[in-house]
Amino acid sequence: MSTRTIHGVGASVGITTGPVFRYEVREQVVEQRHAEDTSAEQAHLDTALAQAQAEIQALATQVRHDVGSSNASIFEAHEMFLSDPELLEEVRGMIESQHVNADYAWKVSTEQYAATLRALGDEYLAARAADVEDVAKRVIRILQGVEEQAAQLSEPSIIVAVELTPSDTVTLDKHKVLAFCSARGGATSHVAILSKTLGIPAIVGLGAAADQLRNGMQVIVNGANGEIVIEPDAAAIASYRQQATSLAHVQTEAQEKACEPAIMADGKRVEVVANIGAPGEAPGTLVYGAEGVGLLRTEFLFLERATAPDEDEQTAVYSAIMETMEQRPVVIRTLDIGGDKPATFLDMPNEMNPFLGVRGLRLSLAHPDMFQIQLRALLRAGAGHNLKIMFPMVATREEVLAVREQIAVAQASLVSRDISYVQHCEVGIMIEVPSAALMADVLADVVDFFSIGTNDLSQYTLAADRTNAAVAPLADALHPAVLRLIRMVIEAAHAHGKWVGLCGELAGDPLAVPVLLGLGLDEFSMSARSIPLVKQAIRRYTVAQAREISQHVLSLGDAGEVREYLSSFSHSATSSKK
Ligand code: PEP
Ligand code: MG
Repeated sequence: MSTRTIHGVGASVGITTGPVFRYEVREQVVEQRHAEDTSAEQAHLDTALAQAQAEIQALATQVRHDVGSSNASIFEAHEMFLSDPELLEEVRGMIESQHVNADYAWKVSTEQYAATLRALGDEYLAARAADVEDVAKRVIRILQGVEEQAAQLSEPSIIVAVELTPSDTVTLDKHKVLAFCSARGGATSHVAILSKTLGIPAIVGLGAAADQLRNGMQVIVNGANGEIVIEPDAAAIASYRQQATSLAHVQTEAQEKACEPAIMADGKRVEVVANIGAPGEAPGTLVYGAEGVGLLRTEFLFLERATAPDEDEQTAVYSAIMETMEQRPVVIRTLDIGGDKPATFLDMPNEMNPFLGVRGLRLSLAHPDMFQIQLRALLRAGAGHNLKIMFPMVATREEVLAVREQIAVAQASLVSRDISYVQHCEVGIMIEVPSAALMADVLADVVDFFSIGTNDLSQYTLAADRTNAAVAPLADALHPAVLRLIRMVIEAAHAHGKWVGLCGELAGDPLAVPVLLGLGLDEFSMSARSIPLVKQAIRRYTVAQAREISQHVLSLGDAGEVREYLSSFSHSATSSKK
């Protein structure tokens, strides 16, 4: 036996050790048969679709119970595929015209559907292709009269698979899943999102290295740095046990104080708020100590639907979130589609470089009617609350001036309809394009606040597509180039009396805390589960100590050096690569 280490992408933090359970999906054999009675095949298909729908609804209920309603939306998308008119027309047409069995027609049509989505070369759509395949397999199994069988785990295990579908992830017995590891998938795949919400360590994107993991093998999984140690020796086990124990200890301690403010060792208070991507997430953030919402991504309202939501629908959704957060600050970002997030109801042209195309605010300004509806809904929902409106993907001052005009138009329209709306509402922009960071002193004059989006700022600064696994590691928010831009932004804003938040993944990384404190960041916004540890990290430093650390880090040569330096005095097990 020899100790080996393989690497993937750390998708959900936590360290664990245990035996590998290879989760192999059973091959489905679908043969083409001649079907004389096509109406019998059509009826067979109808029954199978109805059963699939019932099963998916049951799964959604289970997920809602286990991990909250926002994650159940994955299964709502699955249900939509079952009634997709184009897909059904294709399948039914094939049964009629070719006299083939329903499972064969279904298989061929769904395979084509998934292949078309994959061929578009977009990570978001590729993930939708995996959804189509998940649903397709379910329907074939039902058509073939096979009972659903969840993998039976006899002991707590580390699940290893080529790809884990959302159905797999939620049907496995969570009490026996120590970690999820998959050959495919990126940091934004469903398994990554679900395991983070479930608090289970996960590593994705292992590639061919996953083949080295065999059933029953003992391994150590570190979801923070994406490392798997195969057949660890006694020394490796002892070291990881120690890390796991101290991580658990730090997490428990942090959670106990999660609802207390984050006050630095010399008394300076720092605001810690949550990023949310769906209305159902708002109440849960309070448990982790969120002092408000620093980023509400409104895309969930617009994706995967045939028509855009109207003003009343949007007002109702935003109002519900404002109610939950009472008088706490809530930063709502206007629609940020384009790039890796397409909208089905807009006729969006195919772009060679969608991340450099009509994305975020550019798209809103190009569709003023849609933009006006969202602005009016936001202004209405803000009445009586502490709403701040934020705009994504700003590159120039002209865009901010155009936004100001659009807000005035929306206000005038509400006045003319005699509808009440929020009178005092801060207006801010995301700093995620290098030009905006470089022009922060000019932009600070025309906005009330900035929120730095390091996910995009890193990809644009280092010219490395955040969704392309081959270059994504280059887009490291701890690269001194990104940190220098962050310094410029904070200095410029403060010189103009404006505050600065940071809502990219970097804000939730305890490793980055002293650097960001040293640079003078006013507000940290992150996924709620990260809040307790980040608050804990904030409490450890004085302003002077943090400044010293940030000054040193900004003089380093690359991201690797920054990480090494910061890890030397931070708790490495609690940080994952961003
Ligand atoms: C960012 O770019 O850092 C950000 C928070 O926005 P998103 O991840 O939604 O692009
Ligand atoms: Mg962004």
